[in-house]
Amino acid sequence: MSRPLHEYSVQYVKGIGPQRAKLLARLGIKTVYDALYYLPIRYEDRRVQKKIAELRYDTFQSVFGKVVSAELIETPRGKMKIFELVVSDGTGVVTAKWFNQPYMKRMFKKGDEVFLSGVVKRNRYWGVGFEIVNPDYEIASEDNDIENIHSHRIVPVYRCTAGLTARSMRKIMYQIIQFALPEIKDYMPEEIIKRHRLPALYEAIQNVHFPDGDIPLDDLNERRSIYHRRLAFDELFLLQCGLAVMKKGVQQARGIQFKTEGQLWDAVLKRLSFELTGAQKRVIEEIYSDMEKPVPMNRLIQGDVGSGKTIVALSAMLKAVEAGYQAALMAPTEILAEQHYYNIKNLLDGTDVSIELLTGSKRDRRTDEIASGKVDIVIGTHALIQEAVEFKALGLVVIDEQHRFGVMQRAMLRRKGFNPDVLVMTATPIPRTLSLTLYGDLDYSVIDELPPDRRPVITKVYRHDQKALLIKFLKGELKKGRQAYVVFPLIEESEKLSLKAAVTGRDELQLLLPEFRVGLIHGRMKQQEKEQIMRDFKTGKIDVLVSTTVIEVGVDVPNATVMVVFHAERFGLSQLHQLRGRVGRGKHQSYCMLLAENRLTEEARKRLYCMAKYTDGFRIAEEDFKIRGPGELFGTRQSGMPDLRVSDLLRDAKVLSAAREDAFRLIEKDPELRKYPLLKGVLERFWKDKIEIFKTS
Ligand code: ADP
Ligand code: MG
Repeated sequence: MSRPLHEYSVQYVKGIGPQRAKLLARLGIKTVYDALYYLPIRYEDRRVQKKIAELRYDTFQSVFGKVVSAELIETPRGKMKIFELVVSDGTGVVTAKWFNQPYMKRMFKKGDEVFLSGVVKRNRYWGVGFEIVNPDYEIASEDNDIENIHSHRIVPVYRCTAGLTARSMRKIMYQIIQFALPEIKDYMPEEIIKRHRLPALYEAIQNVHFPDGDIPLDDLNERRSIYHRRLAFDELFLLQCGLAVMKKGVQQARGIQFKTEGQLWDAVLKRLSFELTGAQKRVIEEIYSDMEKPVPMNRLIQGDVGSGKTIVALSAMLKAVEAGYQAALMAPTEILAEQHYYNIKNLLDGTDVSIELLTGSKRDRRTDEIASGKVDIVIGTHALIQEAVEFKALGLVVIDEQHRFGVMQRAMLRRKGFNPDVLVMTATPIPRTLSLTLYGDLDYSVIDELPPDRRPVITKVYRHDQKALLIKFLKGELKKGRQAYVVFPLIEESEKLSLKAAVTGRDELQLLLPEFRVGLIHGRMKQQEKEQIMRDFKTGKIDVLVSTTVIEVGVDVPNATVMVVFHAERFGLSQLHQLRGRVGRGKHQSYCMLLAENRLTEEARKRLYCMAKYTDGFRIAEEDFKIRGPGELFGTRQSGMPDLRVSDLLRDAKVLSAAREDAFRLIEKDPELRKYPLLKGVLERFWKDKIEIFKTS
């Protein structure tokens, strides 16, 4: 063959041609290689056809029979057109129905042999007999040039596109796979295949598409067969190999060895009004041990909201400063950056450490002092590192993030010429399997303990028409001297509308709570205004702070004990968890009150239920993962990760850990994969367009 499979256009496979290639491209299939990893969405067991007489109600089943009639029926007064197809196999009849799709009539004629699959229901008019609404169908007599791929076996069903029937799609896939099989080279190191008893690659490809032998149908449909496992293993292995190479690269780079007595940190520690938790102490030790090593630190700190990550970050920054370097802390929003700035500035009172705030709206100030090294600690947004702010001697970067700063950006950071130590703190806990992926190139620490004075926040879900109850409760808390947040959702289509909701909300609350001061903060405000409002809330000049979601992350006012969220159903779980994390930060019992519409989608109901039931952020993250799946949820799309086509981080969690272990072991042994040129090529292609993992090649 002239070209490798990943460059071989499907157009040139015998029997495909430009016309069909165009249709396939719509499904994302351009090369033969793409087709190999275009897995069936489900499988149908056509080894033994179920007799119509044996069908059961309310289950998904498939039958095979002859069309006895195909009629378009109009309901009285012509309100609706129903296409009815009656199929018989000699043991009974089943009626298939399509509503308002009159063109379906053209597809079938009497005598055609057809496969139908769908949920079998009791016939609505007669009360007996079988019907299937909107079944998947396939006409057996369509073409007969390939034996045995459409029946008498387990057949794959692929996602199709207009212009391709299930049957022709199957045939195309069959042709491509037959064409490709002899060319498939197994790039996986032998010992790994042996260790996990994986089937050969060509065998896996063949069987996920056209299963042979006795693979249980459920295993296939759930993508748990050994053949699916092999493909999932490969994909996760390639992912982890890339991460391992990146990590190895960092380990081989020369970093700064921070040697200090720890005087600065000790000075700050003495002034803290609390004891560090055991988890904080442990994590600080892990960080210090990294910083003292000659290789750059690259560590992820996970900790639930309120676990005290900021102070841990500060300990690292002070070590860097004491060693004569600068440290930078990047926050996801300006408000958060400001807050970190003021908190840390406070803690640094009495030391001679100089600190500066640098955000989009506060740029030109003192950038030359950063460049000259007069400023020790710089707090800012991502602009800090992405744009060309010059440092004299940047030794440590702390990223307080919300998954917006992915693998690629971290790699960029390193390639900017300096090799600072990097500490990533996640604002929202994420499940282990996901952090192994998104942050798989980092070492990992977890602050798995909340400060001892914390009491779990009590969470209640209310309907909007129960607002009076809520106001009464709110009043009670305010009378005790506590403060509250009231959050309105950001309405994505219209910033104006969300602002209006918040403004109206504030005015209404002020009327209902005349003896208290109700303030408003929103994203459109000028920086100075926002700062003033935040300060007033912190110092207690404002009792109730109404806002759009700008306070989502990180704000810290221990006296605030009530978090009210309007239209809570519009928020995601991690957002709600973040919002709830704004309260419960002091010694008083705190409350989170979620107001929701009466009628909720199933997903929204699950989310609210989850919030009421769990307080542990890791637990909530797991639930979120289950409800929504990984991709959308944690923005793996934007994270710079290759797309996962065949594996699923939830389903394949075990496969992931095995793949990770093997990948890291292999890269440790042979960092440039000199002994595995085939694997190296596949790996580079896998990460192509993302990052160039082997700089030399
Ligand atoms: P997060 O991990 O959510 O970023 P913060 O660092 O903002 O949490 O800390 C939350 C609050 O807890 C802050 O007011 C902080 O001063 C306080 N805090 C941090 N560590 C402790 C501790 N060990 N004991 C008591 N309070 C603490
Ligand atoms: Mg924080």
